[in-house]
Amino acid sequence: MNDLIENLEQELRDYQDAVTDPKPRECLCCYVNRMLELGGCDNTLRWAKRYRNLRVPTAVALERRLGDIGGFCDCELFLNGYDLHERLYIVPPEVVVDEYGSIEQEDPHWPEPLPECSGVRAGSARPCDNWVRLRRR
Ligand SMILES: [Zn+2]
Ligand SMILES: [Zn+2]
Repeated sequence: MNDLIENLEQELRDYQDAVTDPKPRECLCCYVNRMLELGGCDNTLRWAKRYRNLRVPTAVALERRLGDIGGFCDCELFLNGYDLHERLYIVPPEVVVDEYGSIEQEDPHWPEPLPECSGVRAGSARPCDNWVRLRRR
């Protein structure tokens, strides 16, 4: 009986690992973004660290590097560090809203779900072509 429970627990752990593992060639930003949608931010760099530990264990300065661009937790990576490339934004059409021909347009926004990761070479902790550094505002 105990064996059965242990086996089940192991299976659950394996399953969890499989969902929270980076996909082959998936970059840091696409991975962290995917995990934020799945598990949210816990005010640490847990997903970025998980990516590093599994994919680029030699990138020991990753946290510092992300901190340098304002990413002290996973979600800040996208508030301060990186933005989706312009070409991937959804631009809503202009809509005529009254008889005077006034035009309204919703702000461009990220598509949902995000496009597939463009891929990075093994051992890279850099974002793929889908991402650009946010300019300071
Ligand atoms: Zn956060
Ligand atoms: Zn990517």
